[in-house]
Amino acid sequence: MLEKLSSVLKNTFNKIASAIFIDKNIVNDIIKDLQRALIESDVDIKIVFELSEKIKKKALEEKSSLEKKEQLIKLIHDEIVSILGNEKTEIKLKKTKPEKIMLIGLYGSGKTTTAAKLAYYYNKRGMSCCMVGLDVHRPAAPEQLEQMAAKAKIPCFINKTEKDPMKIWKEFESQIKKYDIAIIDTAGRDALDEGLIDEIKMLSKKIGAEHTVLVIQSDIGQAAKRQAAEFRKTCNIDGVIITRMDGTAKGGGAITACVETGAKVLFIGTGEKLADIEVFNPTSFVSRILGMGDLEALLEKARLVISPEDQEKLEERLKEGKFTLLDLYEQLKTMQGMGPLSKIAEMIPGLGKMKIPSELLEVQGEKMKKWKFAIDSMTREEIEDPDTIDTNRINRISKGSNIPTSDIRALLKQYKMVQKFFGSGLGAGSMEGMDQKKLAKLAKKFGGKFKF
Ligand code: GDP
Ligand code: MG
Repeated sequence: MLEKLSSVLKNTFNKIASAIFIDKNIVNDIIKDLQRALIESDVDIKIVFELSEKIKKKALEEKSSLEKKEQLIKLIHDEIVSILGNEKTEIKLKKTKPEKIMLIGLYGSGKTTTAAKLAYYYNKRGMSCCMVGLDVHRPAAPEQLEQMAAKAKIPCFINKTEKDPMKIWKEFESQIKKYDIAIIDTAGRDALDEGLIDEIKMLSKKIGAEHTVLVIQSDIGQAAKRQAAEFRKTCNIDGVIITRMDGTAKGGGAITACVETGAKVLFIGTGEKLADIEVFNPTSFVSRILGMGDLEALLEKARLVISPEDQEKLEERLKEGKFTLLDLYEQLKTMQGMGPLSKIAEMIPGLGKMKIPSELLEVQGEKMKKWKFAIDSMTREEIEDPDTIDTNRINRISKGSNIPTSDIRALLKQYKMVQKFFGSGLGAGSMEGMDQKKLAKLAKKFGGKFKF
């Protein structure tokens, strides 16, 4: 179901998660991918562009990269949920007996199949159901309903010769009353014309249908909009059931088109079997096409993932003896994913050879967690050029990260010392030649002496 959209979304989120910075290029890239995938799903171009604009605007606000990543992922997720209707809507059963659900729609939209699926669905949930065949136009309609009813083991009321639907209804009315729910299959037309509207209105009124549900097949994509709008206007529908979601790439277009008209999508049909029907829930639908349990899991990933290329670049910089707050940032960011701090020490040339007591590293690890929060609240400029961080900015970072200003000052001090150390020629290659005594001193410096 919607494989293409699914793979593009997964890709997009991975791109965001593994980017170091969310800049204009990445945002444009992501938007282009999204646009292409949504348009291929036959989502209305107007909706696609509105969504793109929202994402662009939010993504380029001044925020730290981590905030931006989280925000972007959440934003794209929420916007897609929103064009799919936000909340799940169910047929609100009134518990009258029998509660009559009338299915309407054009030829071939899936009414008869859906009637059996719905009866099967409610029956499984403890309600006694029956089906009533009022499609008097198509000669084979009663047999089709009968066969499906037999498969579902649901009682079915049909009359293979009668051509007046109200007569059929009257014939079985007393029997239908015994059931909690009666699903009523009606006749379709090639197009929504007056004949169909009149028939639906007449049936609905005389039968006293509590619910009228429009059935639309998803392969018509955004053309579902006109149908949903017209049926909604003329026939007072509860909502829509979209069928054949399993066989088309245009399902997203059909759903968003219905939502745009204000018609709620109640169920989706996902196959030819009786059980292939599900309550449509936009949030879980998006989670599923993203192939993840929930949004939290994805956000967690965004916090941890660093691409191998980025890792390599970082190692290069360390070897060259350049150690910026950005490098520190990258290390902190991956800390949880990488395990103990000794791993970070390993990456600093020479340091890895030292035996730094593990307790020392743990203690420092706790403190570094605080730094991570602080750096996450900085902007790109601040990370690359910590000299720009004045008292005002320290206060802002403190507020944003919920880390005391004293810790932030300590972090900046630590950064300056590390930078000075590498800048003084002690770093990089020269580490190799350092004697044990010097290294031990350095270890002490890194592990314990700094107060932050
Ligand atoms: P009606 O004319 O509105 O009653 O439509 P039908 O119920 O006869 O369905 C038309 C065709 O669509 C049939 O061949 C069904 O098997 C098929 N169909 C209906 N719903 C689904 C679905 O969710 N998935 C698939 N793959 N086929 C479906
Ligand atoms: Mg039919």
